[in-house]
Amino acid sequence: MTRQYIDCREFPSTMNCSVALSADSPKELLEAAVQHAVAVHGHEDTPELRHQLAKMFKLGTPPVTMPSAKAA
Ligand SMILES: [Zn+2]
Repeated sequence: MTRQYIDCREFPSTMNCSVALSADSPKELLEAAVQHAVAVHGHEDTPELRHQLAKMFKLGTPPVTMPSAKAA
């Protein structure tokens, strides 16, 4: 199974969150991402949120350096 990750740094949000999560299965990653989104970003755990998060998953591991998105 390929490692996957989601990196908050790629999504300039209100709080400049620098958290990155990774897991060996999309299911684990989704659960962790949902918990993070709810606890830290104040989102609600909805099917829409889960869908949005799942679209942000990438293969591999989070890069050490800030993704190119933008450094505020
Ligand atoms: Zn975050």
